[in-house]
Amino acid sequence: MAEVLVYVDHVDGAVRKPTLELLTLARRLGDPVAVHLGPNAEEAAKTLGEYGAVRVLAADAPEFADYLVVPKVDALQAAYEAVSPAAVLVPSSAEGKEIAARLAVRIGSGIITDAVDLESGDEGPVTTQSVFAAAFTTKSRVTKGTPVITVKPNSATPEAAAAAGTVEELSVSFGEAATGTKVTSRTPRESTGRPELTEAAIVVSGGRGVNGAENFHLIEGLADSLGAAVGASRAAVDAGWYPHSHQVGQTGKTVSPQLYIATGISGAIQHRAGMQTSKTIVAINKDAEAPIFELVDYGIVGDLFEVVPQLTEEIKARKG
Ligand SMILES: Cc1cc2nc3c(=O)[nH]c(=O)nc-3n(C[C@H](O)[C@H](O)[C@H](O)COP(=O)(O)OP(=O)(O)OC[C@H]3O[C@@H](n4cnc5c(N)ncnc54)[C@H](O)[C@@H]3O)c2cc1C
Repeated sequence: MAEVLVYVDHVDGAVRKPTLELLTLARRLGDPVAVHLGPNAEEAAKTLGEYGAVRVLAADAPEFADYLVVPKVDALQAAYEAVSPAAVLVPSSAEGKEIAARLAVRIGSGIITDAVDLESGDEGPVTTQSVFAAAFTTKSRVTKGTPVITVKPNSATPEAAAAAGTVEELSVSFGEAATGTKVTSRTPRESTGRPELTEAAIVVSGGRGVNGAENFHLIEGLADSLGAAVGASRAAVDAGWYPHSHQVGQTGKTVSPQLYIATGISGAIQHRAGMQTSKTIVAINKDAEAPIFELVDYGIVGDLFEVVPQLTEEIKARKG
């Protein structure tokens, strides 16, 4: 069976959910071979094998952490040359897309970015993209070289399918460009204790209706009562009420949680583009005509300053 390279996104060996989604999708095309760069490959391999990786090609070197993406591209190219895969799948993060694009240029292949689904086809993988603020769904296929495809987080539900996950050392020689841009310092992001936005099962978002940074504690309180991540509309982010990293939508993050609660958000098409595939959608808005109510499963017409505190208290009380 053909092999499919899957680039592993991990934190010190803890494999992140988008990689498990890629492994699940890769199995539609062939046998997944994971490429793990950095420390703790053995630990990562347990998870990678559980989700279908037949092999884990592992390389660790200070260059991966000390320089920007080029050393990782060198390593992924080495894996590509060692395996001759049917496709290369990379998570659609900013870094993932840069790595994928550089690899595609080097190996003379076509690339598809931000796929939301993929299936095998007679002439190679057929990918689905959601474009123009999700107004259109397109299907496309790489026609030159080995398809390099980046896939958006939450495009598939990770499904376990045990495979060997055998760790093999990947030998990498770094090119001259690898050490061109050195990382000179790192500042860890302050931890909120909340789940990562794109991976959370529940997201509570606030919009212009929240009416100020000082009121976002209401959204955070509701999120914490549910163990949720906090999102925001672009209006709230542009007003400086919440960090850009929490923006949901066309020019923000795409989320697809089990439950999405939109508070004080009108439901502009650009916001919907980032959340409309959520399984259950709840909106709290004082305007009964707000477009967000067109796509909700449950709508509460009311003032969020009255509804949100009551909802938070009720949830806390029920959780005991
Ligand atoms: C190219 C482009 C890209 C964009 N990308 C994004 C994106 O990624 N994400 C995004 O979100 N937007 C994006 N936008 C902006 C988008 O068009 C909207 O302007 C934005 O989503 C509106 O944010 P909002 O719903 O918070 O604000 P508004 O549209 O102003 O809606 C506020 C809502 O809050 C309700 N409200 C007010 N007070 C209360 C209260 N006390 N209680 C309950 N409800 C209340 C109002 O009834 C209203 O419905 C983009 C726009 C463009 C042109």
